[in-house]
Amino acid sequence: MTVPINPARPVTAPLVVVSGPSGVGKSTVVQEVLRQAPDVWLSVSATTRAPRPGEVHGEHYFFMSPAQFDQLIHDGQLLEWAQFAGNRYGTPRGPVDEHRADGVPVILEIELVGARQVHKADPGARLVFLAPPSWEVLEARLRGRGTESEQAVASRLEAARVEIAAQDEFDDVVVNTDVSDAAKTLVGFLHDNTPR
Ligand code: ADP
Ligand code: 5GP
Repeated sequence: MTVPINPARPVTAPLVVVSGPSGVGKSTVVQEVLRQAPDVWLSVSATTRAPRPGEVHGEHYFFMSPAQFDQLIHDGQLLEWAQFAGNRYGTPRGPVDEHRADGVPVILEIELVGARQVHKADPGARLVFLAPPSWEVLEARLRGRGTESEQAVASRLEAARVEIAAQDEFDDVVVNTDVSDAAKTLVGFLHDNTPR
């Protein structure tokens, strides 16, 4: 069977956006996705947040001052950006476009407001909500990670209520009960080249 080519639609690799409340396991699942599918590229975000112990500039985030972040916005270099729990986070546009144009599937791990912006900019992007098995499990994972002060945990839990209430806006909801299973589902989306 020949697949009809629509010349109006440039062929680019899939863009999968993973969102979900802080502590649900996004980083953990995304790292497992990269292990299961080494062809996938994970976008590196810019942020004004301070690095956590062990985080490396250019690998986990591009850590920058508010003024540097302002400049990226001003220059139109961000595909999306949002304020989250007192800091700003944004996705550099260029590398996302370049990887997709080269046929490399791209995954973004971002919060709700940013995910909405990506959907507006590119309705073909697939928005996936990573959900906790329960609220109690979410709280336990967030506190168990031990990386935030009690005040930061409270702020993230407040944001989580808003994020969970918006999960119907997403194309897919994946419950993170088992890391490997959740990652496998995401890999399926990243390798799905059906035009959307
Ligand atoms: P997020 O990136 O969404 O903020 P993390 O990936 O940092 O979340 O995960 C939060 C905590 O939950 C970490 O301690 C992680 O090891 C743990 N975790 C993630 N997924 C699972 C899972 N499926 N089962 C049990 N613990 C998990
Ligand atoms: P953390 O501080 O825990 O690394 O991230 C806090 C929140 O910011 C998480 O929900 C994470 O997904 C989100 N985030 C990380 N990078 C970006 C980004 O580039 N844009 C947006 N909108 N959110 C991001």
